[in-house]
Amino acid sequence: MDQIECVVIGAGVVGLAVARALAARGREVIVLEAADAIGTSTSSRNSEVIHAGLYYPRGSLKATLCVRGREMLYEYCASRHVAHARCGKLLVATAGNQIPQLEAILARGKDNGVFDLVRISGSEAIALEPALECVAAVYSPQTGIVDSHQLMLALLGDAERDGAVIAFKSPVESIDALGSGFTVKTAGDAPVGIRAACVVNSAGLYATKLARRIRGLDARHIPPFYLARGNYFSVSGRVPFTRLIYPMPNEAGLGVHLTLDLGGQARFGPDVEWIDAIDYDVDPRRADSFYAQIRSYWPALPDGALQPAYAGIRPKLSGPGEPAADFMIQGAASHGVRGLVNLFGIESPGLTASLAIAQRVCEMASID
Ligand SMILES: Cc1cc2nc3c(=O)[nH]c(=O)nc-3n(C[C@H](O)[C@H](O)[C@H](O)COP(=O)(O)OP(=O)(O)OC[C@H]3O[C@@H](n4cnc5c(N)ncnc54)[C@H](O)[C@@H]3O)c2cc1C
Repeated sequence: MDQIECVVIGAGVVGLAVARALAARGREVIVLEAADAIGTSTSSRNSEVIHAGLYYPRGSLKATLCVRGREMLYEYCASRHVAHARCGKLLVATAGNQIPQLEAILARGKDNGVFDLVRISGSEAIALEPALECVAAVYSPQTGIVDSHQLMLALLGDAERDGAVIAFKSPVESIDALGSGFTVKTAGDAPVGIRAACVVNSAGLYATKLARRIRGLDARHIPPFYLARGNYFSVSGRVPFTRLIYPMPNEAGLGVHLTLDLGGQARFGPDVEWIDAIDYDVDPRRADSFYAQIRSYWPALPDGALQPAYAGIRPKLSGPGEPAADFMIQGAASHGVRGLVNLFGIESPGLTASLAIAQRVCEMASID
C-alpha cells in the first residue's frame, strides 16, 4: 500500500490552497480529486468576488478569514499574475427603511477591521454610477473580482513545484482512522489504498457525506447539512456600471447583486433556492423575481435582457429560516482524531478566504 504524509481530498480552491500550503512547509502531499479536472464544482460556480468582509459577525471564522484571506489573495494574485481587479463595490439602500440595516453593516464591517468603508449619500452614489437608483450607500474600495480558474491553476502549479501530486478520477470512498494514521481508499477507474498521517477533508458539497465514511470519527461531530442553489442570470451586451452593486442582504443570502467579470460582462445573482439534491439547472421562470429585485437599484434594466446563465450550490450548515452558520474547521481538538481536518460549510466567502483557511488548516494538521 502506498504511504504518504498528507492526503488532501478535493481539488477545489480550498483543497488546492491547502495542498500548496502543506507542500510549501515541506509536507509530502497527494490531492485526491473525484472529477477529471480541478475546480469543477463550487469553485467554478460562484460570483468570483473578493469580499472585503462586511457581513459576518465579529470574531467569526468567516469574518477573520475573509479579512485576512482578502489581503493574502490580493498579494498572491499580484505576485503570481493571476487576473484580478480591485474594482470596488457599492452596497445600496433603495428605500429609507433600509438605512438602519446599511448603517449596521457599515458598523459591522468596521468591527471586522474593514476600516476604509465610506458612507455616502444617494446622490454621491448616483454620481459614481449614474444608472443606479438608491437613497444611501456604503462604498467598499477593497472589494474586487478574481479569475478563479487562473487562481486555482496558480495554486496547483505552486503545490506541484513543491512536490505535491494530484490524482484525478480518484473519488475517496472510505477512510479508516482506527489505528495510528489513516487508510484512505478510493473507488473509480484505478482504486487504491493509501496510508497517511494526515487527512484534510476538503470535499465541499460532499464533505459531510465523506465524514460519515470515516471509521473512528464519532458521528456527533458531523453537522447537519443543507443545499441552497444560487442561480445566476446574465445580460447580453454591456451594462452601464463599473463597480459591483449589492442590495441589502436578506435572511438567506447577500441579495441578487451585479458582478462583473474581468472582461466587463455582467451577471446577476445568486438568489437562494433550497434544494434536496445536487442539480445545477437554472429554471428560466426565476427571471421574474430577478427583474423585480434588480430594478429596485437599476430601474432601466430592459425587458427581455436577462438570460439564464449558471448555478452554484452552497454547502450550508444551517437550514431555511435559521441564522447563517459559520465555517466549521474541525481538527483533533474538537473531534479527537489526530491528523484529521474536516472542512464543513465552506460557502461564501470561501474563495476570498481560501489562503487564510489553508494557513489555519496547516496549523491544525500538525503531525509533528
Ligand atoms: C453561488 C455561490 C456564490 C459564491 N460566491 C462567492 C464569492 O463571490 N466570493 C467568495 O469568496 N466565495 C464565494 N462563494 C464560495 C466559494 O465558491 C466556495 O467557498 C469555494 O469555492 C469552496 O471551495 P472548496 O474547495 O471548499 O469546494 P469545491 O470547489 O466544491 O471543491 C470540492 C472538490 O472536492 C471534490 N470531491 C468531492 N467529493 C470527493 C471525494 N469523495 N473524493 C475526492 N474528491 C471529492 C469535488 O469534485 C470538488 O472538486 C460562492 C459560493 C456559491 C455556491
